[in-house]
Amino acid sequence: MDYLQGLNEPQLEAVTTIEGPLMVLAGAGSGKTRVLTMRIAHLITNLIDPFHILALTFTNKAAKEMKDRVAKVVGQSEAKSLWMGTFHSVFARILRSEAHYIGFPSNFTIYDSQDSVNVLKKVIKELNIDGDLYKAKKVLGRISQYKNNLITVKAYFNNPELIENDERANQKHIGLIYQKYVEACFKNGAMDFDDLLLRTNELLTRFPEVLAKYQDRFRYILVDEYQDTNHSQYLIVKALASKFENICVVGDDAQSIYSFRGANILNILNFKKDYPDAVTVSLEQNYRSTQNIVNAANVVIGKNLQQFKKNVFSENEVGEKIKVYRSLSDADEAAFVASNIWQLHNSEQMNFDQFAILYRTNSQTRAFEDSLRKKNIPYRVYGGLSFYQRKEVKDLVAYLRLLVNENDAEALFRVINFPARGIGESTQNKLIVFADSQNITVSQVLGNLGQFAPTLQLNNGIITKLADFWAMIKAFQVMLKDENAYTVAMEVAKRSGLIKTLKDDQTPEGISRVENIQELMNSMQGFIDEQQQVEDGDSSLSNFLENIALSADTQKDKKDDNTPKVSLMTIHLSKGLEFPVVHLVGLEENLFPSFMSSSTREELEEERRLFYVALTRAEKRAFFSYAISRFQWGKITDAEPSRFLSEVDSEYLELINPALESRFMNHSGLKSNIFDEAPMGETRFFKKKEPKKSLERDEPTIIPKNLKPVATAKIINPSGSSSQDIEVGDR
Ligand code: ATP
Ligand code: MG
Repeated sequence: MDYLQGLNEPQLEAVTTIEGPLMVLAGAGSGKTRVLTMRIAHLITNLIDPFHILALTFTNKAAKEMKDRVAKVVGQSEAKSLWMGTFHSVFARILRSEAHYIGFPSNFTIYDSQDSVNVLKKVIKELNIDGDLYKAKKVLGRISQYKNNLITVKAYFNNPELIENDERANQKHIGLIYQKYVEACFKNGAMDFDDLLLRTNELLTRFPEVLAKYQDRFRYILVDEYQDTNHSQYLIVKALASKFENICVVGDDAQSIYSFRGANILNILNFKKDYPDAVTVSLEQNYRSTQNIVNAANVVIGKNLQQFKKNVFSENEVGEKIKVYRSLSDADEAAFVASNIWQLHNSEQMNFDQFAILYRTNSQTRAFEDSLRKKNIPYRVYGGLSFYQRKEVKDLVAYLRLLVNENDAEALFRVINFPARGIGESTQNKLIVFADSQNITVSQVLGNLGQFAPTLQLNNGIITKLADFWAMIKAFQVMLKDENAYTVAMEVAKRSGLIKTLKDDQTPEGISRVENIQELMNSMQGFIDEQQQVEDGDSSLSNFLENIALSADTQKDKKDDNTPKVSLMTIHLSKGLEFPVVHLVGLEENLFPSFMSSSTREELEEERRLFYVALTRAEKRAFFSYAISRFQWGKITDAEPSRFLSEVDSEYLELINPALESRFMNHSGLKSNIFDEAPMGETRFFKKKEPKKSLERDEPTIIPKNLKPVATAKIINPSGSSSQDIEVGDR
């Protein structure tokens, strides 16, 4: 059993204890994910049918990697029937087979948050509620909270406390909006992301036969990143595992970073309550990072009051100190990072995929994209606006969604007049009002225009346009019965006039939109090929649509090739990953910790956990950077170094911009603390100093007392040009 050999003692215990509940609670890089993977391999080697194994991961990417690794041990054919994926993708699949139980069509549409916001905007407008007081995005956040805590509309109205809460927050209409939103989704045959969990819970609680079926199927359940499961996910796992109790969860409370999305650290505590006999294993050795990185990360996370005390150590090399770069502006910071990557790439023959740039918010991406592009460094941005959320892509996808589920009103109104075909807003409104008055869907009105035309109060010209549009959709639907998804989508793109409209715009943006459509088609072809290669593959259009709705984290790139690329992503997305070199950028107060999350101790502790996650992604080297002024919200604002910088003991840090060194001399000639003050004597290039935001903080920024700049570090200033023929940032 070769695969067991690379495990230390507690890891071995966790892998080989295959019956009964087990929890691994351990720090970053200690091999939790490895344990989970090897445990699956071990189960299969011990003749557990892979059909009975369910593994839940935090991202699709993680699931794919885990499956590949398991396949290496047990072989492709054994690994194939494993169910592995995110909560959302696994339960979307189950909901499709069981949708009829809860009154949904099996071809239900999955709404991404953009779709949900659109539906909410319409609901708010129809209810004549002030859209300024009820911002759709915020309302969606609130609804999401309710759903993730299993507070249905009914439960909401039965709970005076919740109602009063919303009233006090000047949001007394939330309940009504929630109700109308749920009704709209139901009518559209659509579920949002939270519904995938909520409805699964509904399915499992209301229908014991369904629960029994899946309990019997999933006899071995494994969950990675358990600290970030929300209440809804917790209940699903608990219900499924309650028959066999072969459940293994792994997690690290210090890496719980999704409480804003309802993740509940208490799930870890509950585990011991739910399964009093559970075996608990702790892993202490970090195999990922150098001692310096592990020790620095430990010091910072040690400042959190709320945590299970854990010992994490590394026996890897001590490693370099963490380099700190202080920059003048965000652009300067980005230039430094690109130069640094370029230099390491050249001097140490490091591939570009060994680097990651991690930031707190997506809006920081652009500066790095610019600086990497200037140096011809290939990169890939994860997250942010996914490929599938681009307008032109969504437009074509909306047509396709409509073919699969014609009740999807969100898709219908997206395309009914795009490309323009003279069916304007007032016609659309009349359709909605009429459909409501008859208690039918808009698609039913369109499907029976002959019958409804006399009462619709629309002129003949418009009726003809509506009839033509619907005939076109119907023709596509008929075509879908005989042709494959790719052929139909191509036909839709052409016959709907979408391609022509895009091609009419010959600006670079217009051309890139056409390319995006082409790319969507490529990805569809790729999907079909992939599905045809596997035994029970499903290359249907509806499966393709489900796949892209749930693939935000594995988004396609325009030219997705194998060129090694620098990874750019938010810290949230980097969870579970590792890179030889990590640049953690934008270490400034109000940015990281975020100004939105620094008013309470709880919020600050979550920011600190984020910092811990970021730093522990690094294997060999970590670079910190911050700017003293930053272009934000359309203005240049003054910035202060992040408190987290000062929380790292200075013994682990090294300042690397000696060019600034003289500026750190104080009047007595002694080097002052690098985080003390802005460089002296430089020309400030912002016009006006912005007043500091007065934020309620529960702890002051602590300045390290003994941190000194190191004068010997090299100035990094490689040439910006490259003769290599490599592909540049493909986003
Ligand atoms: P995170 O908390 O960041 O998710 P983790 O606890 O899941 O981390 P893994 O990703 O499983 O940790 O492992 C971290 C790294 O250490 C991986 O590269 C893994 O292959 C390696 N590793 C884990 N255990 C061992 C071991 N016993 N011997 C050698 N390498 C190991
Ligand atoms: Mg992991």
